[in-house]
Amino acid sequence: MREDIKKHPLNVEGKYYVAQDCCTCMGACEITAPNNFAIDKMHYTSYVFKQPETPEEEDQCQEAIIACAFEAIHDDGE
Ligand code: SF4
Repeated sequence: MREDIKKHPLNVEGKYYVAQDCCTCMGACEITAPNNFAIDKMHYTSYVFKQPETPEEEDQCQEAIIACAFEAIHDDGE
């Protein structure tokens, strides 16, 4: 993980995460990858509540990265 990125504290451990400072809570990730992303309504940001466990979920997480216009979703590839 890049050290200048502030991860949302609700992100579960794993390669995908949302950068809290970049997310504008527009919701594309939750629509694209509903099994993995959720909105934190208290703080108007999204977070990864589950890392992908299937090829389909992996594809959806990659699509979420593309769908996020604010480049708030990161993949450390680990
Ligand atoms: S798509 Fe990006 S900006 Fe929109 S809620 Fe998800 S992480 Fe935040």
